[in-house]
Amino acid sequence: MQFLFGPVKSRRLGNSLGVNLFSEKQCNLDCLYCEAGRTVRPLCVNEYYVESSSFKEELSLFLKNCSEELDYITFSGIGEPTLCENLDEFIEIIREVSQCKIGVITNGILLGNSKIIETLLKVDMVMPSLDSALKKSFQKINRPFSNIEIDKLVADIKQFGNLFKGEYFLEIMLLSGINTSANELKALKKASDYIASDKVFLNVLDRIPAYTESKKLTQVEKKNVKKIFSLKNEILL
Ligand code: SF4
Repeated sequence: MQFLFGPVKSRRLGNSLGVNLFSEKQCNLDCLYCEAGRTVRPLCVNEYYVESSSFKEELSLFLKNCSEELDYITFSGIGEPTLCENLDEFIEIIREVSQCKIGVITNGILLGNSKIIETLLKVDMVMPSLDSALKKSFQKINRPFSNIEIDKLVADIKQFGNLFKGEYFLEIMLLSGINTSANELKALKKASDYIASDKVFLNVLDRIPAYTESKKLTQVEKKNVKKIFSLKNEILL
């Protein structure tokens, strides 16, 4: 299959069929914890297009032979889906051939871009990430290739959430010794309360990361997370 993977039993999304638009890792960030490896060359907006003509057949065939209930068809994989210029074509194809809810997992960097906003408003679930609300640790964890103002990123995530009528989930990756001090956690809590998404997923490292500086939380750090986050609509995975 060129585009589809799974279905994956996701801790956050149930039974999710993945759609990957990239043949190699392509992103505008180079996160310490990325499961797809390091970003060799940064990708910018409107720089990547992938022919969608075979996707309809691939998806239709998959769905015809699939006996499982799917909770979502989700754009994720080994790159940032919002960097795909014709993401909207893929969304339209899914709508044509399936009743399943469509999700997009994104690093959120382009949530202030009007074309991306228009595209993402067509799906049922959007899950941006925010791994730090402070400049220094944001740079350290997400390693952006361009200058990204953390306050603007938080504001863009918030504003998209105000427009979006579907399920809006925020995802935070917690890395031992990097974004787990009381100061870091309080800043993240403040930002996530401001964004007010439907759920917040507090992730811990689960797979092999791109950089060895990424480490799992200690038990003490987990306790500190539980003290600062209410864990009502915030779920520590
Ligand atoms: S945004 Fe996602 S795909 Fe890009 S480097 Fe970070 S974890 Fe990897």
